[in-house]
Amino acid sequence: MLVVGGGINGAGLFRDLALQGVDALLVDKSDFCTGASAASSRMIHGGLRYLEFGEFRLVRESLKDRNLLLQNAPHYVFPLPTTIPILSRFSGIGGSVRRFLHLGGSRASNRGTLIVKAGLTFYDVFTRKDRLMPRHKFTSRAESLARRPALRQDVVQTATYHDAWISYPERLCLELLLDGQSACSDATALNYVALEGASGDTVSLRDKLSGDAIEVRPKAVVNATGAWIDFTNRSLGYETQMIGGTKGAHLVLDNRALYDALQGEMIYYETPDGRVAIAMQWLGRVLIGSTDIRVDNPDDVRVTDEEIYYILESIRGVLPGIDVNRSQILSYFTGVRPMKSSGGSAPGGKDTVQVSRDHQCSVIEPTEAVAVPVCSMIGGKWTTFRAFAEQVTDQLLERLGQTRRVETRRAAIGGGKDYPEDEPAKQRWLASLQERTQLPQDRLATLLTRYGTRAEAVAEFLAEGPDAPLCHHDGYSRREIEFIVRHEGVMRPGDLVLRRTAIALLGELTGELLDELVAIVAEVRGWSQEQAQSERSRTVEILADRFGVRIAARSEEG
Ligand SMILES: Cc1cc2nc3c(=O)[nH]c(=O)nc-3n(C[C@H](O)[C@H](O)[C@H](O)COP(=O)(O)OP(=O)(O)OC[C@H]3O[C@@H](n4cnc5c(N)ncnc54)[C@H](O)[C@@H]3O)c2cc1C
Repeated sequence: MLVVGGGINGAGLFRDLALQGVDALLVDKSDFCTGASAASSRMIHGGLRYLEFGEFRLVRESLKDRNLLLQNAPHYVFPLPTTIPILSRFSGIGGSVRRFLHLGGSRASNRGTLIVKAGLTFYDVFTRKDRLMPRHKFTSRAESLARRPALRQDVVQTATYHDAWISYPERLCLELLLDGQSACSDATALNYVALEGASGDTVSLRDKLSGDAIEVRPKAVVNATGAWIDFTNRSLGYETQMIGGTKGAHLVLDNRALYDALQGEMIYYETPDGRVAIAMQWLGRVLIGSTDIRVDNPDDVRVTDEEIYYILESIRGVLPGIDVNRSQILSYFTGVRPMKSSGGSAPGGKDTVQVSRDHQCSVIEPTEAVAVPVCSMIGGKWTTFRAFAEQVTDQLLERLGQTRRVETRRAAIGGGKDYPEDEPAKQRWLASLQERTQLPQDRLATLLTRYGTRAEAVAEFLAEGPDAPLCHHDGYSRREIEFIVRHEGVMRPGDLVLRRTAIALLGELTGELLDELVAIVAEVRGWSQEQAQSERSRTVEILADRFGVRIAARSEEG
């Protein structure tokens, strides 16, 4: 099987196929998890607002997979108490009913207590058999304002319910790929390899780093390229209109007052134009988003000034008592939601798994030009990747005449395997690792937070040779960075500072630190000085252009 696209859907599918012993090759034209999967709001959630559209099946499935992720990835997925400020008791009923009946309806609706209560009751009912977190509750105006004085004063009540959040989505996506590779010796995932075309039973790929052409003869191609699905199908000779994407931007802020006001909860609020937005604590910073703007080419998306203004205005609207301004922005990011186009499906193709509006696999059967089936994974939330992968894997196994060997429901992911269940177990785990590696307990605790139980492999690597903290970031050591570069497919400095770690998004990257990190990548990858300098310059450009992270253009030495 050839899986094109290493976002969460491609990675989830790759792992599932590999667990069944299927020889799978996954390629991504960029680094793994660079598209929508890196741009999410970091919520692992049921999707409260989808209830308004009657998406009960989707919400039920998402809640089930949310609960599975809390258990299978306890190192990165955590409960998230979420508070909704409510501005009226009865408003929004008409708009919600119209949306529910698919009669359209204006976006601006000011959803009142009754509507919120209805949604949260469904949430609780859907999880009653598998309750991991408390039921929803309402809090009076007086109590809400006493607890959060910065909240807008016309709030009539707040409602609090539980969902989940993910600390390192890019790392969990990578761990699925690593798990797939270790489950099946024939399964391989390659970043910086793009699909370019196909003829007969041969698919042409290109290694974007070396320029080398690669040819493969898969039994099927899975197009998991998200917002690029139609572009990828076009490379294969098919004109499709499967995706109608919208971009969404988020800001990462350094704002202590806002961070404290969130009190470990996410605020899920309505914007003046009737959309819902979020503000939450993320790795010591505040994450706010997002926008929703129709786009045609996912390669061209950037966070615009208007989006920054819109996001800042929206949070000021809900927490007017807090000063929020541009100078607090550490970074931003954007990505395209790969939503199903209203334009239709593939020519000559048929939807073989019409699960719901949310995600589906559309198959183009073999033609004279391309002699293998092409299966496009359309839509799908981050939260539902496992369920989506399971459906597509079963479909592909049927084509291969095989049956499923391994279920993924209870399959722990990466560093979530054998994760200590409670604090005493954690202390025992750390003590045992300390005995073997002689590393300080607090250092091991940091590694456990960063890598889950994969910290064991990291710690053993650290203990094997002389190590020291980085000169310009004492939270990481040289050997830790070397481990990441060697064992986690880092090909370029951006992979390291944006996706294997969150150093750049958290505003921790300086010119000197970038020099230090580039030197380690260069040493492992055997780069010349010119190549290292050119990779550094490229990284600086990407960071400024796409992430709003400004670093000195040249190192002092350079
Ligand atoms: C702003 C925003 C907020 C969101 N928030 C949430 C949330 O909080 N919770 C949630 O559950 N979901 C959320 N989602 C939805 C979720 O992130 C996406 O649905 C999901 O990540 C889609 O994953 P994917 O693998 O299909 O696509 P992508 O992650 O976009 O992956 C596609 C990959 O294909 C690669 N590719 C493209 N062309 C080629 C080619 N020719 N050859 C090789 N590779 C190629 C790209 O480089 C890319 O890495 C959000 C999405 C957005 C945009």
